[in-house]
Amino acid sequence: MKKHIVIIVISVLAIFLSINNIQAEESSLPEAEIIVDGRPHKTKYLMRNGHLLVPALFLKHTGVSVNRNHQYQSVVLSFEEKLFALPINKKFSDDYISKVKKWVRFPLVTNTIEIDGDIYVPLVDIASKFGMSVAYSPQLRRTEISSNIRSPHGFVRRGSPEHKRIALTFDDGPDPHYTPQILDILKEKNVRATFFVLGNQVERYPKVLQRIVNEGHAIGNHTWSHPNLPRVMTQQVIEEIQTTQNIIEKTVGRRSDLFRAPYGAVTKADALLLEGMGMRTIGWTVDTLDWSGLSGNEIVSIVLRDISPGGIILQHNFEPHRQDARLLDGTVEALPRIIDELRAEGYHFVTIQTLLTK
Ligand code: ZN
Repeated sequence: MKKHIVIIVISVLAIFLSINNIQAEESSLPEAEIIVDGRPHKTKYLMRNGHLLVPALFLKHTGVSVNRNHQYQSVVLSFEEKLFALPINKKFSDDYISKVKKWVRFPLVTNTIEIDGDIYVPLVDIASKFGMSVAYSPQLRRTEISSNIRSPHGFVRRGSPEHKRIALTFDDGPDPHYTPQILDILKEKNVRATFFVLGNQVERYPKVLQRIVNEGHAIGNHTWSHPNLPRVMTQQVIEEIQTTQNIIEKTVGRRSDLFRAPYGAVTKADALLLEGMGMRTIGWTVDTLDWSGLSGNEIVSIVLRDISPGGIILQHNFEPHRQDARLLDGTVEALPRIIDELRAEGYHFVTIQTLLTK
């Protein structure tokens, strides 16, 4: 009897070890650049029986929505009336035929699989379902996808270069430490800025957001919890944006049509979604890198070096934690000097809304 138990223990251990091995293998999956509509995107991939599999989320770069259906253990890919559900560990997809309003099962070249939380799907199969073309150039050793999905036009990186107008922007607040110091300086200098706020920070510090609005500054949506959007399922992207819109409205009685993506990272699918919500996604022309703990002097010299008419300056007002307690001291130090020096050069500070008017 004891012998049996030992054997069972050993075999369970062996299975456990082999599972661990698979995970170890996964984290070392190779990466490749795949060109989507002319733009390169890095992705992990794996080859199986001669078929290229990529994480389903990679498809967001083509404009396709990607969601997970936990009830059916599947990943669901959709664009307009096209809708495909790929159950994990199965070699088929269930395709929704909108004309007859029915699901029909079609074989795939290989199984959809889940590794370390990522669902890998056969790229060529999926692309052809959406009517995309995929080409592999053996000389360049490069895969290129042409999605046939239109590009979004809601992304704004700068204002018109015809006016000497520029915008100061602050991301990741509101917080009780840096935001009031920044607001004091802006008030003293009579400057209006734009704050891209996080929903969960608004929930904690509603009074700070009210002060931002009362003092004439503009606000924008920076998601609820600052996820890297390319790594997030479409439904969660929608929730991140909508919950933040709701708490902004609840706190200050109005919504904003401005959005800034965490890390500036949006896929085509996210950008199309934001456009559909009537929002403009705002980038920047001057990255102060203030979050990395630069001194006031360093920040001022970056701004003076990179500024141009219509420019948008990126700074931060996140909440200090023990390990980064004084990380943004340079931001506060630099601010009055940025304002004075750029005014001396003839620049006017405006909100993003004003910057984007003709
Ligand atoms: Zn941010």
